[in-house]
Amino acid sequence: MSYFVDTHSHLYREYYPDDLESVIRRAVDANVRKIILAGVDQQTPALIAEAAGLFPENIYGLVGLHPSDVREDYETVLDELKNHFEDRNIVGVGEIGLDYYHDRDFEKEQQIVFKRQLDWACEMQLPLSLHIRNAYSEAIPILNQYKTGSLTGVLHCFSGGIQEAEWAAQHGFAIGVGGIVTFKNSKLQEIVVKTGLDNIVLETDAPYLAPTPHRGTTNESGYIPLIAQKIAELLGVPVRTVMEKTTENALRIFSKIK
Ligand SMILES: [Zn+2]
Repeated sequence: MSYFVDTHSHLYREYYPDDLESVIRRAVDANVRKIILAGVDQQTPALIAEAAGLFPENIYGLVGLHPSDVREDYETVLDELKNHFEDRNIVGVGEIGLDYYHDRDFEKEQQIVFKRQLDWACEMQLPLSLHIRNAYSEAIPILNQYKTGSLTGVLHCFSGGIQEAEWAAQHGFAIGVGGIVTFKNSKLQEIVVKTGLDNIVLETDAPYLAPTPHRGTTNESGYIPLIAQKIAELLGVPVRTVMEKTTENALRIFSKIK
């Protein structure tokens, strides 16, 4: 495939109040033709619907409750979210997982919510975008309970080590590589070299984590080629090879994308 896929982004009007259209247009002009917007809470489906309505050929979405957004009212939120799998251009479940980086206040609830949404993915045969932060040792045993063989997805913003990367490869999960790989001394560079292109997909996580030389500014999906360029340098292959292989991986996982 001769275009890029941004497998994880948050191009919502909320973050780009004045220039959402031009941000998406710039991405398409940079040959990032498919962009997957991750869901985080019950407000996101409307924001995704808006962006997908503007660019139906380019914008796809996921439905999910982010672990850091889990509160006491999670049952109501999940009930509401589940209705949105019928929305236009929804292609998976995410971003879901466990995040014990900021706090563990809702540790137990995070696990319940994570499992509930894994059940959805199994029932609906949909791929996952997983957000796991400071919680690999808790998340992997949970995922191991779901050995259906059909569960697939991406370890978004991969922050694990070699062992976790190997676990991913053996269990049908790709690792999501974004702007962090362009940062000096990032340990992700070593992971990319060891993993190789067979198990990598590209992502920006825009508006966060802009790659070098835009580090510290608002990220956008049009920066995907900078990430691909860095991976190409690390692996000593042409950027085109990185584009073709990562797009093939992304479309295999998010198979509802047309
Ligand atoms: Zn995200």
